[in-house]
Amino acid sequence: MFRRSIYKTPAQLRSMVEPGLITAAALDAVRPLIRPGVTTLELDAEANRVILERGAESNFQLVRGYRHTTCVSVNEEVVHGIPGERVLEAGDIVSIDCGAQYQGWNGDSAITVVVPDAERPELVARREELSRVTEGSMWAGIAAMATARHLGDIGAAIQGYIEEQGVSSVSGRTYGILREYVGHGIGRKMHEAPSVFNYRTPDPGAEVKPGLVLAIEPMVTAGGEETFVEDDDWTVSTTDGSDGSHWEHSVALHADGIWVLTASDGGAAGLAPFGVTPAPIA
Ligand code: MG
Ligand code: MG
Repeated sequence: MFRRSIYKTPAQLRSMVEPGLITAAALDAVRPLIRPGVTTLELDAEANRVILERGAESNFQLVRGYRHTTCVSVNEEVVHGIPGERVLEAGDIVSIDCGAQYQGWNGDSAITVVVPDAERPELVARREELSRVTEGSMWAGIAAMATARHLGDIGAAIQGYIEEQGVSSVSGRTYGILREYVGHGIGRKMHEAPSVFNYRTPDPGAEVKPGLVLAIEPMVTAGGEETFVEDDDWTVSTTDGSDGSHWEHSVALHADGIWVLTASDGGAAGLAPFGVTPAPIA
């Protein structure tokens, strides 16, 4: 069987800029709507509106058996939550995962937001800390991609970052990393080879070199690493009921450096603490 190269040409990388920006725009539009009283289906509708308005289509709807534009995962749900009638409440931790396909190329990105709750500042602090650690581990993995020789260097950077955070200052527990769910290559299809593990692996993995485009997406919990799939056959929740967070960006490595396709600034702000400056795709 013919296997498509995991390394893309400069022209192919250029084709991935617009779907990345459309994905970013969809999440930017959803972010301010995440507040008490909104349903997860309303968030999904807004993401879909933006994607269609930009002349793209939802690539989540191209996944067999899935009808929505986003996954919305709340509290102990970590990933793959199905949008529906659930009404968000103050203090909820909400992960939104979304992707656009434009002219045959794909973007994929996720954010986590904690709904403000003036009554429960400790709960909010604990959940915001989980989100910060998860987001930071994603940026650590993206920064590692700039200098990595093999894919395994990226997973090691993600796990290393999470371990450096030690225990949660609020919950007193170490963070868990989901093992069964991983990042991936992205291009003509939303999910392509290779897998991108969010932890150290014995195998160094594929060579990291120009042309590689990865969706880097740590899924982190405030407790255990064990999960189960809910009766809806999609939603992945923690077995111990601890909170989950999910952050994701699609990132291209090219001749001049890395560029975060699903960030409007190419990742400049997120990468600055790691001393990495993204380079636009020429
Ligand atoms: Mg995603
Ligand atoms: Mg993904």
